[in-house]
Amino acid sequence: MSCGNCPCSSPPPPPRPTADGGGHPVGAARRDGGTDRNPRSRSACRLPQSARWPHRTTDSRAGQSTVGRPEPPHPPANRLHTVRIFEGSLTVGDPVHAAVDPEWRIGARQAHSGTHVVHAALRQVLGPNALQSGSYNRPGYLRLDFAWRGGLGDTTRSEIEEVANLAIRRDLPVEVRHLPLAQARAEGALALFGETYDDTVRVVEIGGEWSRELCGGTHVAHSAQIGSLALTGESSVGAGQRRIEAVTGIEAFRYLARERDLVTQLAAQLKARPEELPDRITTLLARLKQTEREADSLRGRLIDLDADTYAANAVDLDGVAYAGITTTGDARRLAEKVRDRLGRRPGVVGVVRGASIVVAVTPAGVQRGLAANDLIKRLLAGKGGGSAASAQGRADADPVELLDRLRDLARAA
Ligand SMILES: [Zn+2]
Repeated sequence: MSCGNCPCSSPPPPPRPTADGGGHPVGAARRDGGTDRNPRSRSACRLPQSARWPHRTTDSRAGQSTVGRPEPPHPPANRLHTVRIFEGSLTVGDPVHAAVDPEWRIGARQAHSGTHVVHAALRQVLGPNALQSGSYNRPGYLRLDFAWRGGLGDTTRSEIEEVANLAIRRDLPVEVRHLPLAQARAEGALALFGETYDDTVRVVEIGGEWSRELCGGTHVAHSAQIGSLALTGESSVGAGQRRIEAVTGIEAFRYLARERDLVTQLAAQLKARPEELPDRITTLLARLKQTEREADSLRGRLIDLDADTYAANAVDLDGVAYAGITTTGDARRLAEKVRDRLGRRPGVVGVVRGASIVVAVTPAGVQRGLAANDLIKRLLAGKGGGSAASAQGRADADPVELLDRLRDLARAA
């Protein structure tokens, strides 16, 4: 369904099964069955009324529709249908049968009225500058973009959610009126900035002036029919634009039930009551950090021990001390510790871990022309880099072969 005087068209019904097993959307349907109220997005609503054809007028008493042009005056405008024909043909005067899926319709109404409720709650909590710039809803889900700078924060989000649910609980009446545009504006009805409207517009009110918007969408009769509303997200969608997302009706219940199940599962895993979870997790994280620090310290001490051994076992290659090592630990740390233990001697250390190699050279080694970055480049055909004292790179070569080549380079100095 679409509307000539409203930015918020009501969602089209979902695909219905057909003889070929597939479903075909009716009307100007999006693939996901939702509607988009962003004024920049494409919508059947943007077409001038004269360009919309065929129009279908519905006799709700008989459940029959007739293809033809609507009689002026135009409102109620939501009797216009854009149809796609997948089989056969449709001509002016053909009787057609229109049917609404009641379950789908309930979800669509809840989500659409929920959008208005969230908008009003946003404005109640944040003030009149929080003005909607676009929205989208489908049964069970809604999102709303609005002008605002910066994130809302947990407390503000909770407040908006509570205001929305209190409005639902108060069972506010939902009223639809057709008014001259000027009167609607004078009464403070909210419209999308930059949107053009007909002279006569449809105004939807929830709780009177609490929520008063120009709208062509389908709505619940009173706010309690929305059932429940849960905010599920809030994010930035551009400079000065935020997006708030929510679920309504049975989807809100399902969302909250999933959250509860998650908390129950975590509480069982951590052997804590749900309200103890934040403290328990904080304690566990602190303990984990402490354990990581201790493990790191122990690893350092093990490397020290290893480095002593490797330095003591370094071979002498015509005056250059050389140690070639393979490890599964921290290659760089080990290479540099062994190098430091070689002291004032010219020395070259190579440590291979997997496909990477670290070369470390003592100051006397560098003076003798054995810069680590130079050795790495010669070993790895120009790949890798670092300083004269320590360099690294990746190679596909066999570690033993790589260290043999490094040993040859060290010996040749
Ligand atoms: Zn609306």
